[in-house]
Amino acid sequence: GMPAAPPPVLAPRRQTRQIRVGSVGVGSESPISVQSMTTTPTTDINATLQQIAELTAAGCDIVRVACPSADDAEALPIIARKSQIPVIADIHFQPKYVFAAIEAGCAAVRVNPGNIRKFDDQVKEIAQAAKDHGTSIRIGVNAGSLDARLLKKHGKATPEALVESAVWEASLFEEHDFHDFKISVKHNDPVVMVRAYEMLAECGDWPLHLGVTEAGPAFQGTIKSATAFGALLSQGIGDTIRVSLSAPPVEEVKVGIQILQALNLRPRRLEIVSCPSCGRAQVDVYKLAEEVTAGLEGMTFPLRVAVMGCVVNGPGEAREADLGVASGNGKGQIFVKGEVIKTVPESEIVETLIEEAMKIAEEMGEA
Ligand code: SF4
Repeated sequence: GMPAAPPPVLAPRRQTRQIRVGSVGVGSESPISVQSMTTTPTTDINATLQQIAELTAAGCDIVRVACPSADDAEALPIIARKSQIPVIADIHFQPKYVFAAIEAGCAAVRVNPGNIRKFDDQVKEIAQAAKDHGTSIRIGVNAGSLDARLLKKHGKATPEALVESAVWEASLFEEHDFHDFKISVKHNDPVVMVRAYEMLAECGDWPLHLGVTEAGPAFQGTIKSATAFGALLSQGIGDTIRVSLSAPPVEEVKVGIQILQALNLRPRRLEIVSCPSCGRAQVDVYKLAEEVTAGLEGMTFPLRVAVMGCVVNGPGEAREADLGVASGNGKGQIFVKGEVIKTVPESEIVETLIEEAMKIAEEMGEA
């Protein structure tokens, strides 16, 4: 038969030049990648590699590690070599670590022009070293560390100021015929951030790394990131994303993946269609949805599971999903691929759904 049409997206990707971060392409020819950053001291190589392994398992595509000292720089070669995903070294203040990270075999280096004194004078050497090693660069402008000259000129970190800094640094790299870089212009205010990226997107064909910086604890940071990324991704802007949360980095990856999946920019895996519950509910929908989510977490194939509180929308949604339950009278009608296969007591709903999910996985050759 006909291959299934790809799911619809809100806008075509903005066309960009294409760069590589190690094995991962970044630009409009590649899927949008998800990044995070380790929180372990980089000098603790084992802990850092352990965290990278956890991030990789969660679906992270690219990982960034901080490099604030010579000891951190010394840890980079082994981390870069042993990591399952490309490693970006994050450098502020000290250009010498940019060279160390390039020599260490990092896939890319993030530089913050606002935090590297006399950065402009060093661009030529950085471009040459990066070219020699096939390393790409992120020009990472950040509201909290904007170039003093621009801060003075604009009064504060306005979208115009962030973009002016980024475009200036980009022009320096391009003057030295270096083009393998992406740009970020992060701000903690989603409105300023979105305006900055919209403006930047008009200024050149650079791939863009999206981020709301210092977005806050998990709940607030998730919403700030989702709204800001949603506004940009729905216009086709953004080639790689990092959700910043004051929470473990695996949480950042989960949120990033969910944002992309919600917009059909990454294949959906487990998707729970659960109702908010209401006065008609005949089971504890929250508990059921949580238990089903926990029981099926880590499934690597697409599976849509409906968890519905009563018969109003229950059978309809359950029928549309791969798997579902519509509850009533302390019982659950279990649906598989649109058919009711059995009715079980409430206490057996979760285990039955998990069992049936495993059967589907087996049929798909995934188990
Ligand atoms: Fe309420 Fe039933 Fe709709 Fe759930 S499915 S929100 S319980 S009417």
